[in-house]
Amino acid sequence: MTEASPRTFVHDVCNGSTEMPADQVQGRLTNPHGYNDWVYCRKCDGYVARRECRWDSTGENLAEFFDRAKTAAAPPTESKGVLAAPLVLAALGWAIGRFVLGGDEYSVIGLLVGFGVGVLLLVLRKYGLR
Ligand SMILES: [Zn+2]
Repeated sequence: MTEASPRTFVHDVCNGSTEMPADQVQGRLTNPHGYNDWVYCRKCDGYVARRECRWDSTGENLAEFFDRAKTAAAPPTESKGVLAAPLVLAALGWAIGRFVLGGDEYSVIGLLVGFGVGVLLLVLRKYGLR
């Protein structure tokens, strides 16, 4: 992050300029996936689409500017907790089979079903379902 980063942008619809707080600019550049497509326009006194705005200093469209940061930054990493899902569900399945259904044979079935569901969830996530 340098001091030269653009700060003031012009909203093309109302032609008003707004200074984006430095922490906003920095946050959007370092964590581009954590922000949506709206920016605050002082003149409109509300949130407006990024693509309707451009930096005062460079004339670059804000949407393009931040999309470039988004492309450069890796998507957020999956939390490790998600990977434990099959194990947690397997343990849950085992417990249900063992104590609710009341039998060792059920505990094994529950364990396998729980593990299977957990793996299925991971596979679905991998293909973009949430
Ligand atoms: Zn505006």
